[in-house]
Amino acid sequence: MFDKILIANRGEIACRVAATARRLGIRTVAVYSDADAHARHVAACDEAVCIGTAAPQDSYLRGERILDAARATGAQAIHPGYGFLSENEGFAQACADAGLVFIGPPPAAIAAMGLKAQSKRLMEAAGVPLVPGYHGADQDPRVLKAEAERIGYPVLIKASAGGGGKGMRRVDDPAAFEEALAACQREALGSFGDAAVLIEKYVQRPRHIEIQIFADAHGNAVYLFERDCSVQRRHQKVLEEAPAPGLPAELRERMGLAAVAAARAVGYVGAGTVEFIVEQPLGYDHPEAMRFYFMEMNTRLQVEHPVTEAITGLDLVEWQLRVAAGEPLPLSQGELRFRGHAIEARICAENPDNQFLPATGRLHVYRKPACSAFTVADVRIDDGVDEGDVISPHYDSMIAKLIVRGDTRAQALARLDAALAQLHIVGVANNVAFLRRVVRSDAFAHARLDTALIERERAALFGPPALHAPTAVAVAVAHTLASEPAAAGAAAAHGGHDPWDARDGFASHGERHRHFAFRWGDDPVPARLTRRRDGTYWLAVGEGEAACAGPLYWRADPGGGWALGVTFGGASLRATVYAEGERLHLFTPDGAAVLVTVDELAHAGDHAAEGGRLTAPMPGKVVALLVQPGAAVKKGQALAVLEAMKMEHTITAPADGTVAEWLYAPGDAVLEGAELLRLSPA
Ligand code: ADP
Ligand code: ADP
Ligand code: MG
Repeated sequence: MFDKILIANRGEIACRVAATARRLGIRTVAVYSDADAHARHVAACDEAVCIGTAAPQDSYLRGERILDAARATGAQAIHPGYGFLSENEGFAQACADAGLVFIGPPPAAIAAMGLKAQSKRLMEAAGVPLVPGYHGADQDPRVLKAEAERIGYPVLIKASAGGGGKGMRRVDDPAAFEEALAACQREALGSFGDAAVLIEKYVQRPRHIEIQIFADAHGNAVYLFERDCSVQRRHQKVLEEAPAPGLPAELRERMGLAAVAAARAVGYVGAGTVEFIVEQPLGYDHPEAMRFYFMEMNTRLQVEHPVTEAITGLDLVEWQLRVAAGEPLPLSQGELRFRGHAIEARICAENPDNQFLPATGRLHVYRKPACSAFTVADVRIDDGVDEGDVISPHYDSMIAKLIVRGDTRAQALARLDAALAQLHIVGVANNVAFLRRVVRSDAFAHARLDTALIERERAALFGPPALHAPTAVAVAVAHTLASEPAAAGAAAAHGGHDPWDARDGFASHGERHRHFAFRWGDDPVPARLTRRRDGTYWLAVGEGEAACAGPLYWRADPGGGWALGVTFGGASLRATVYAEGERLHLFTPDGAAVLVTVDELAHAGDHAAEGGRLTAPMPGKVVALLVQPGAAVKKGQALAVLEAMKMEHTITAPADGTVAEWLYAPGDAVLEGAELLRLSPA
């Protein structure tokens, strides 16, 4: 076994690898960009070497600097994690040339599986079933379109060099083919430096089921069962589970053997994942009709490997290290077993209500349920950030992975829901509340799975929070009262400020009144609180028909946030509240919500001078400008394409007008809120 390894990655996967290395008594070297000087993965390793500036191409993608760091620290092997250089055969070869062990497959196996089109030709020869499609070398648009006709719409155009859900377009109608092809090629060239595409039939009611495989250098190869990653947005995984619900044992075995055959066909060594797309031609209740097709092989450890660890009790990073050190696989196929059920949720900095646009910001609050880290348990959280850390635009948007297991799927689901309810994040837009809705949806609970689940369940998954405005206001008012007494009491004793004397409070007949103004979504919600002579409170929320009034009772416990028990309007509720400026973040067993306390004076004139400016919704890079200065544009027309955090986003015109000028050019990096162009109103 190795004495010292270098971990050529950052974030949770770097911390994950370090945890196993530590357990095995292996010393670790971290590499980091100067944006990550204080990151958790640096502290998690025994030594650390700075390899450049924030942008990945200046640090985590600089193979030669990583090799220098390994030589300088005396590391014997390099673990690439996932992303970055993990599937770069040039880097794997450079490691070997430098006398270092690359903890991954041989360069030739990476190369064989690196391009989807080429890997499909190899798999075809190995007898692995393929999705009907075209993966030829001829890239003439007319040929591609003719192939699409032959395959039959809907089709999926994919970047052959693609990954991470990027460079993929579904086309339903021949009329939309050319435009989709151009977009796909542009994204492929921009992101992967290779415009080649392939075309596949768009499988109906598709499920993404992948097989974890492992091979050693002694000719042994096994499969560690499957993971179902059907719940996706933008072709990217959101929830992953194992085993795949309803998968017949006979099909599992056939898929497992096909995956092992795929690995053997390319001389694979180490951990890998063979991804299959599974068709459900007769619907969710007929698993016997399921058919599987090879999609691609990921020649690395996968983000969702912990669900396999949870059902097998194995440490896959330990297996990787043993195999890389030349040991045989620890278990044979006949010795491998799984039990129970595990689900992983990817916690991402993003905005589900705005097309899942990635978000950045500081984790002002980051509170987790009781959990383990990097090791199998009923509730496990793998992350590489701490409260106070920044989710920056330089790297991807995953904050953490929450992995639960149970004896049954129902138990795992219940644990996931409870853990998500106790995961409190403030400061960065995130998908925690959205994930809870998915987990609680009928479709997911009953495992009616396919990759369109999120789209199909739109009505239940998006929209206003489950919490009612009056209840939220009652919690917010209780929070205000709870957080005041110390200050108010002290102030009163010194003849100072008393909130009940503020401009929004007044007294009558021994009762005292206060007015509050909140904003709930886009709606203003006024509230009036009365402190009665007996010291109890009466709250009236809203106006007119929608008004709701009654006694308000509360108990409060200060902590990182305020834990409150509130009774109002006939309901009792527990909530944790964190104040972030004017925003109150409420976390309750029924869901989370944000209520804004409105200070009218502070916002006078906010909306002036907004018109005619178009700003970047997030930090990123300008990919294309679609209109020229002087062009007349219509509301909703696409103006520019921005790329950020592994995705492309189209900026559209907010109103009719004329493009006055562009302030950036294609290729320019822009910060969130940067003005991109000026539009003169029509
Ligand atoms: P999976 O392993 O489930 O197939 P992806 O294919 O989306 O996941 O990519 C693997 C992971 O690699 C991503 O989730 C991300 O964390 C990381 N990654 C990929 N590209 C980059 C990048 N350019 N910068 C940082 N991280 C990246
Ligand atoms: P990537 O390299 O970006 O991971 P994949 O080829 O693995 O690309 O596909 C990503 C996702 O796109 C799959 O998980 C699946 O949801 C969807 N997908 C891919 N191919 C098809 C297909 N032929 N029909 C329907 N959906 C597909
Ligand atoms: Mg894939």
